[in-house]
Amino acid sequence: MSQIPTYVTAVPNGTEKGLYMAVDLGGTNFRVCSIHLNGDTTFNLTFIKVPIPKELMVAQSSQELFAFLAKQIEIFLKTHHEQHFEAHVRRRLTISSPDGYKDENVFRLGFTFSFPVRQVGINKGTLIRWTKGFDIPDAVGKDVCALLQDEIDKLHLPVKVAALVNDTVGTLMARSYTSPGKTGTVLGAIFGTGTNGAYVEKLANIKKPMTGDYDKSTGDMVINTEWGSFDNQLNVLPNTTWDIELDKASVNPGIQMYEKRVSGMFLGEIVRLVLQDMLKNPSISLFKDENSSHNDWRSTTSIAQQSGVYQQWGLDTSIMSVAAADNTPELSTLRQELESVLHIYSPALEDAQAFKAIAGAVGRRAARLSAVAIAAVVLQTGKMTDPSSEGEPIDIGVDGSLVEHYPYFRDMIYETLRAIDGIGEEGAKRIRIGIAKDGSGVGAALIALVAAGMEKTKDT
Ligand code: BGC
Ligand code: MG
Repeated sequence: MSQIPTYVTAVPNGTEKGLYMAVDLGGTNFRVCSIHLNGDTTFNLTFIKVPIPKELMVAQSSQELFAFLAKQIEIFLKTHHEQHFEAHVRRRLTISSPDGYKDENVFRLGFTFSFPVRQVGINKGTLIRWTKGFDIPDAVGKDVCALLQDEIDKLHLPVKVAALVNDTVGTLMARSYTSPGKTGTVLGAIFGTGTNGAYVEKLANIKKPMTGDYDKSTGDMVINTEWGSFDNQLNVLPNTTWDIELDKASVNPGIQMYEKRVSGMFLGEIVRLVLQDMLKNPSISLFKDENSSHNDWRSTTSIAQQSGVYQQWGLDTSIMSVAAADNTPELSTLRQELESVLHIYSPALEDAQAFKAIAGAVGRRAARLSAVAIAAVVLQTGKMTDPSSEGEPIDIGVDGSLVEHYPYFRDMIYETLRAIDGIGEEGAKRIRIGIAKDGSGVGAALIALVAAGMEKTKDT
C-alpha cells in the first residue's frame, strides 16, 4: 500500500477557532463550503454541492476540470460571502500588489482531494494515479494545489489553497474535533464511492523520506494508507468471475483491487454482472415470464432493453440499500424499485428475493472486508493491548455513502470485528465507530488552520 505521510502531526482537541473554506473533489459531487469553527467542538457550515460532469472526469486536459472547480468557488463566494467578495474586488482595483495573500481577508482554503497523492508539504502534492472513474492523464505527476490555485488566480478570487487533504485525513480530524476523548481518534475511514483510511502513526515507525516542514514535537504523523490498493496481486482477496470481469472493463485494471470489492462505485456493478450472467443462462428463470422461450435472453424477459442491467455501471449501488432495507414478506418496496429504476416489469416475489440475496451477499462481503482493514489499523496502533489506554474507547470516524446509507453496514462490520483474532468480543466493544458528518469539509478547515499557523511562524 502507498502509506503516504501527510505532514499532519496532531489531531485537534475541539478548541480550534476561525473561519475557513474547504472544497472537496473525490467522487460524485464537488462541494464548496465555508466553515466557522466555534472552538467548543461545534461548527457552522455553509455549502454548495454540484455533480461533477462525467465528461470532466475524463477531460482532455486537467485544466478543464480545475477551471470548473474554480468557477464553483466563485459562485459560492458570490452567493454566500458577497460582502467579503465585493470588498476584495474593490481592494484589488485600488491596490495592484501581486502579493495579495498576506491580506487577512483572503480565505485560507483546505483542498480535500480524495485520490492518491505524493504529499511533499502541507499544501503541495503530486497526483500518483486517478481512481474511481477519473482519468485525465496530464494531471498525473502534477501538484494539484498549484493546478487549483492557478485557476483561482485567473478569476482573481480572494482564496489561498493552504492545505491539501485526503478525505480520510479530513474525516479523522473532524471526528477528533467533534468528539475529543482522552486518547483521540485513531482512524478516519471512508466507505463511499471509494474506500480508504488514515491513522495516527509514530514518527519513529515512518521510514519514508520526508522533505517538507512539519512539527516534530508530537512524535506522531497521520498516514494515508490508500488501502484501496491493498493486495492488487490478489494473494488473499476473494476473486470471483464477476470481480475479474468488472476489473477488466474498468479504467484502471489491476489497480484498487480491494476498493473494487468494497466501495459504492463498484458494488452495484458486481451485482449487475451476476444478474447478467443469470439472465443469459437458459436454465435459470430470473425476471422471465414463464411461457416465453428462453432462446433469446433479451427479448423474452420482462426487462426493457434500456434496463440498466444491460449497461456497464447501469445498476446504482443505492438499489442495494433498498433491497437490504426491505424486510417485508412481499418485498413490495424493492419490487417497485426494480420496476421504476431498473425497468424490470412486474417482478415476481421470487425475482425480488433472488435480487435481495445476491445484493446482500455482495454487500456483506464488502462489510466484512471493511472490518478487516479497520481491525488491521486498530491492531497496528497497539491500543488493544496498551495498559495506559485500557478500557478506553478506541475511536474511529467514518464517512461515505455506504456507512451512511447501506442498512446494517456497521452491524456487519462489528459482527466481523468480533470474529477477528486480537479483537474479539471484548475488543469489539471498545471500538467506537461514529459517523463524522461533513467530515471532509470540517477536517480540511482544521488543516487549513494548522497551515495558516505555520505561515505565521514563518513570517515572524
Ligand atoms: C482514493 C483515496 C480516497 C478514497 C475515498 C480512493 O479511490 O484513492 O485517496 O481516500 O477513494 O474517497
Ligand atoms: Mg467524499
